Amino acid sequence: MQNTSASAAQDERPGPSPGDDGAASRQASRAPRGAGARGASRAPRAVVIGSGFGGLAAAVRLGVRGYEVTVVEKLDEPGGRAYVHRQDGFTFDAGPTVITAPFLFEELWQLCGRNLADDVDLRPVAPFYRIRFHDGVTFDYTGDAAAMRAEVARLSPGDVAGYERFVKTSEAIFRVGFEELAHVPFGSWTDMARIVPDMMRLESYRTVYGLVAKHVKDDRLRQVLSFHPLLVGGNPFSTTSIYSLIAFLERNWGVHFPIGGTGALVRGLVSLIEGLGGSVRCGAEVRRIAVEGGRARGVELASGERLSADVVVSNADSAWTYRHLVAPEARKRWTDRRIERQRYSMSLFVWYFGTRRQYPDVAHHTILLGPRYKRLLEDIFEKHVLADDFSLYLHRPTATDPALAPPGCDAFYVLSPVPNLLSGTDWPATQERYRRSIAALLEATVLPGLEGALASSRLLTPQDFQDRLLSFRGAAFGPEPVLTQSAFFRPHNASEDIEHLYLVGAGTHPGAGLPGVLSSARVLDRVVPDASKFR
Ligand SMILES: Cc1cc2nc3c(=O)[nH]c(=O)nc-3n(C[C@H](O)[C@H](O)[C@H](O)COP(=O)(O)OP(=O)(O)OC[C@H]3O[C@@H](n4cnc5c(N)ncnc54)[C@H](O)[C@@H]3O)c2cc1C
Repeated sequence: MQNTSASAAQDERPGPSPGDDGAASRQASRAPRGAGARGASRAPRAVVIGSGFGGLAAAVRLGVRGYEVTVVEKLDEPGGRAYVHRQDGFTFDAGPTVITAPFLFEELWQLCGRNLADDVDLRPVAPFYRIRFHDGVTFDYTGDAAAMRAEVARLSPGDVAGYERFVKTSEAIFRVGFEELAHVPFGSWTDMARIVPDMMRLESYRTVYGLVAKHVKDDRLRQVLSFHPLLVGGNPFSTTSIYSLIAFLERNWGVHFPIGGTGALVRGLVSLIEGLGGSVRCGAEVRRIAVEGGRARGVELASGERLSADVVVSNADSAWTYRHLVAPEARKRWTDRRIERQRYSMSLFVWYFGTRRQYPDVAHHTILLGPRYKRLLEDIFEKHVLADDFSLYLHRPTATDPALAPPGCDAFYVLSPVPNLLSGTDWPATQERYRRSIAALLEATVLPGLEGALASSRLLTPQDFQDRLLSFRGAAFGPEPVLTQSAFFRPHNASEDIEHLYLVGAGTHPGAGLPGVLSSARVLDRVVPDASKFR
């Protein structure tokens, strides 16, 4: 996958200029094909920094709109947080595993005149999650209305009516929060002012937990219905209740997993980009965004190579983009001080492991809730201390695709939400002790005999989020999704500071998670000028 095709923009020209024969012939040889074909020379150039889902989706959309697109990626393979580790015969998807909103992927394929189903075999996963409380009681969270009612009744008979009200509320929030707001730019105060009445009506000033607590009384059920913000880096006790829309999104379109793993979606998107004549260059770290006269002109790689561009799209972490890739004198809004003062999401400790035996009773997605909920989240988000206890998410992809492990084996990862690097934890010194305590809990609960069955192991810590993925403070999901850092208050998709610089991905609007970052790329269709403007 490395260096999938040659650079599309290797010189130092600020953009296409009529009569440049060299450029015309170079571009003619890579004229976009397929649905994005314009058949013309001098297609404007777009450089996308980073090949996370947001960057790849942006590259597809720009390619379809007639741009000649080069994605430059620091790592040796595309995917970003969705990087794929292959070791000891196991395939480990590094990050996203709960695939929701498949229609957002289908749309990208359709834009290219292709069908997602021809390239990626997405399978529905049931239950969505098996939630295991500290006392060993479990709750199967599904999209089936009757089954969910029965599960709620089993846990707390008095809460069934309240649960139904919560589901209705989640749908109402989805209709506004997702359908009307997720793919539109929030470039001005008036954009924000326009949505205030809807936000008041939907009680967006409440937190996710506050909204859930309004409807159901049982403490365990409140946890079941409020954990979703953790999937996008938010604390249910401080994230705006807009994020309750995730419950409806899952219920209506289901939770999916691709055969071959999430990496199959990454590979599919790369093939769309290449089908449009674009390229994905791996092992190419951007050191600087070139800005002249307040306008982005291209990027400079760590190797010293310069790529000129008409538009630059950064899929790198938004805080990192401004703090490290744009010179301070080019930033009026995103000053170092403002970047430092943002609140950043939690980080994650992830242990990928393979076992030489199988655990067929373990669901594809299991959530193991610890003894503390609110206090643990306070430790993570507010106090920034690494606690001794934890709540875990356990992934067993081989429940859906056995080919992700050697015969007779299981592939797993277990994820523990932990504070970002503000905790000051010395991760290299701590990681093995922390891994062992997680392994002990798994061994005592759902994976008996685990340590003796280990066949493969690797770790991802907050330090890696900073050093490997260049995420400010090692946050796993960019700025924390609180109301004061949402929509207009989040780094804008069209840079406030620099013309022709655009941002996609978790650190910009609407936010983290695959639906969020794919939607951020959709916003580009509204803010990036038509290719014809540059011809
Ligand atoms: C462990 C984990 C589990 C998750 N599970 C889920 C889930 O189940 N479902 C879900 O919807 N979401 C999940 N998420 C969240 C989701 O994965 C992310 O929000 C999303 O993938 C982020 O995509 P992105 O577009 O922001 O890019 P990223 O994936 O953050 O990629 C950014 C890319 O930019 C590259 N880059 C950075 N700086 C430079 C530079 N200077 N030069 C060149 N390249 C650079 C990086 O190397 C990286 O490849 C999970 C996240 C993690 C970490």
